[in-house]
Amino acid sequence: MTVFVTGALKGEKCLVQLDKVGRSAAWGHTVKVASPSPARTASDCPHFAFCGGCSLRHMTYTEELAFKWQKVLDCLERIGGWIPSDFVIYGTENTERYRNKVQFPISGSSVGFYAAGTHTVTDVNDCLLQPLPAAQLRGALKKYMEQYSVSAYDERSGGGLLRHLYVRTNRAEESLCCLLVNGKSLPHEDALVSLLRAAEPGLKGVVLGVNEKRNNVILGDSYRTLWGDDFLMDEMCGLSFRLSVPSFYQVNTPQAEKLYSLALDFAALGGSETALDLYCGIGTITLCLARRVKSAIGAELVPQAIDDAKENARRNGIENVEFFCGDASDIAAKLATDGVRPDVITVDPPRKGLAEDVVVSIAQMAPRRVVYVSCDPATLARDIKRFTKNGYRPVKAAAVDLFPRTHHVESVALLVRE
Ligand code: SAH
Repeated sequence: MTVFVTGALKGEKCLVQLDKVGRSAAWGHTVKVASPSPARTASDCPHFAFCGGCSLRHMTYTEELAFKWQKVLDCLERIGGWIPSDFVIYGTENTERYRNKVQFPISGSSVGFYAAGTHTVTDVNDCLLQPLPAAQLRGALKKYMEQYSVSAYDERSGGGLLRHLYVRTNRAEESLCCLLVNGKSLPHEDALVSLLRAAEPGLKGVVLGVNEKRNNVILGDSYRTLWGDDFLMDEMCGLSFRLSVPSFYQVNTPQAEKLYSLALDFAALGGSETALDLYCGIGTITLCLARRVKSAIGAELVPQAIDDAKENARRNGIENVEFFCGDASDIAAKLATDGVRPDVITVDPPRKGLAEDVVVSIAQMAPRRVVYVSCDPATLARDIKRFTKNGYRPVKAAAVDLFPRTHHVESVALLVRE
């Protein structure tokens, strides 16, 4: 029987406590390592033992890259039925404080992270993956909660106010801070803003996001600016981008640049093509494409992200691009029916991958190349298989590590029309 074990490394002999036994597999955790691997490292983070964030901090970074390389290849082979040749993973020198966004859950008097596998929030005063402004703003929020006895949201009763602290930081170390609140306002908002501004001189804005529903969703239904801007600017791929709170933005900017440059290489553009970018977010890949093609279209579900994308095209003086807001299934089906025939289609869906009908609509649009950017190698592999049933052949793939010390990894694959 296969046993999935957390905390153990390849080649180690460990004492394992089984937590769950299924019909064909079991799950357990390491209790004691009898013969440690040479790749094992002592964790340098005091929170590692309980925090659910970094799952690979007990191995060297070299071992981590080998692990992720194997993980993506295994998915492509076992689920996708395809073994890419010359498969490479692109690692990074910079494995600490690389995240440009942090979302601290708040509970009781704690502002921190969930303990692994639970919904218990533990205070984490600093995190080695987060930039320093996030820790400063977290400290200021704790002070505000204490000074004005402001309550945290309680999942069980549905009462209390503060749910999450969200901080986004750009390359220039400027930050945007959003408080997600179970209510439309907070007591002493001016005092809160003063405390946050005093803690972090690079702060550009403070936003309140309203989420009064009894759910685990982090983002709000509506937003109100308490002070300053309701967006943050950042530079990426030689372009400048406006980021609103609800808009997606890759959390590791330099590694995202590597990922996008691979995606562009895979697209092999000559300048005269038309391109479609599905799941385009704020238009990062779309605008990179637009600079290299005749015209480009971007499509995305989140309205604020599409507003950002349009504004980003304008700010960068890019005019050969059009953006549509809606579900990728609907937009792809409509474009296919309208006879839109892009030469290249890029897709960058969330972890669940492409809806099956998106693959069919893409095949109907018959691009020569499909470049698939993915944050989950298992759904990437599943979708590659679906593409092979719709007239496409996978040609090459690569992985890029955007999430050092965690088990997440990005991949990019090229499919060509048979
Ligand atoms: N390519 C962008 C965004 C990738 S993340 C970048 O690299 O920054 C995936 C994006 O898909 C998110 O912006 C998310 O809002 C969007 N999305 C999620 N479900 C979608 C759907 N059903 N249709 C269209 N877009 C969707």
